[in-house]
Amino acid sequence: MFYVGCHLSAAKGFAAMGKTALQIGANTFQFFTRNPRGGAAKAISQKDISDFLSLAEKNHFGVLLAHAPYTLNAASADAEVRRFAFEAMSDDLKRMEYVPHNYYNFHPGSHVGQGAAEGIKRIAELLNKVLTKDQTTTVLLETMAGKGSEIGRSFEELRSIIDLVELSEKVGVCLDTCHVYDAGYDIAAHLDEVLNDFDHIIGLPRLKAIHLNDTKNPFASHKDRHEKLGQGFLGEEALIRVVNHPKLRELPFYLETPNELEGYAAEIALLKKRRSKEAEMR
Ligand code: FE
Ligand code: FE
Ligand code: ZN
Repeated sequence: MFYVGCHLSAAKGFAAMGKTALQIGANTFQFFTRNPRGGAAKAISQKDISDFLSLAEKNHFGVLLAHAPYTLNAASADAEVRRFAFEAMSDDLKRMEYVPHNYYNFHPGSHVGQGAAEGIKRIAELLNKVLTKDQTTTVLLETMAGKGSEIGRSFEELRSIIDLVELSEKVGVCLDTCHVYDAGYDIAAHLDEVLNDFDHIIGLPRLKAIHLNDTKNPFASHKDRHEKLGQGFLGEEALIRVVNHPKLRELPFYLETPNELEGYAAEIALLKKRRSKEAEMR
């Protein structure tokens, strides 16, 4: 199966996102668990959840990707900022159990001068506080572009976090194509080598999802500005190789390109057209 979707607004609930996904040719989607600027999450409606679950089952949806607010910084030196990270993430993970067996992605955080080692320790501390044995959600660390003091700019940093997590079977990685290229992993010219690196350092079984984005900036720029597929420095061919790669093609792909729904529909149609037949037969 080819699981492909994009980031959708969660304002109208799960059933609405499911319908929108179908309208644009998607069979999964990403959404923010709450306002990305923080604040309380919307109340959960049991009816909305059951409507969504039946729609998803009928239409063979792939796994959903929830995205934590990007203001969440588990690595902060400021105890108040870390308290928000703890409260938002533990509340999000409780809510995720209404739609069990999905993924929850977050930006590991920025150490803002304390040094990466200190930041890594703090991120693992948060995960050790919020993860529970009984949760069905897998929490994903996102690969980051490395702007400012972002942690997660290298596979080694992600590995160091995972190594400090007790319930590490609940932790995976989401690879963002824009971010890794910005971080200095040349997935355009050397995709196989990058995946071998990932495998040696983190282990490919940890890789659970792909954020499929082009980038507005050249290789290793550490900028993190997403571009529409084929209109940036990665280019269409490189992104199509990602989608068809034998080690990646079974993963779900989520677009976070600067698009309205119409633009997303066009990109999804392009990806389906260029998905290799050989990949589809499996
Ligand atoms: Fe992200
Ligand atoms: Fe991303
Ligand atoms: Zn980004």
